[in-house]
Amino acid sequence: MNKENTAKLMEKYSFLRVAEDPFIRKGNESMLYDLMLFGIETGDGWYNLIDNLCATIVKTLKEEGYSEDTIKADQVKEKFGGLRFYYHFEKEVSKEVQQRISEVIGMTEEQSFRTCEVCGKVGKLEEANSWYSTKCDECRGV
Ligand SMILES: [Zn+2]
Repeated sequence: MNKENTAKLMEKYSFLRVAEDPFIRKGNESMLYDLMLFGIETGDGWYNLIDNLCATIVKTLKEEGYSEDTIKADQVKEKFGGLRFYYHFEKEVSKEVQQRISEVIGMTEEQSFRTCEVCGKVGKLEEANSWYSTKCDECRGV
């Protein structure tokens, strides 16, 4: 995703932002644990999908009495042509919340397989030389 869109989403949703210190340090070694440092690793066509997903996450948390910083995204990327949204909870949350959030993420990930990653129009998953991508015909150039 381009810098402008990434910045917009990170501005809007605090749980997408990189942790203040994204490294775990042990002596002289440090290990990167917050992969949000790489930004949102998808095409710009999924901007609305991710925006809607994050808005639903915030709404769900609020409805259940939790604040937005209850959740933290670990990595948002494209894999095998579909969206992957990895996250963890910073605090203990009810089973109900865990389930609702996991469901909405699952639904969005499914939707990504029908959404062109480049332009956001209706797309389909295709494989070429073991490379999977979800695009519309126009963006695929067919
Ligand atoms: Zn397209």
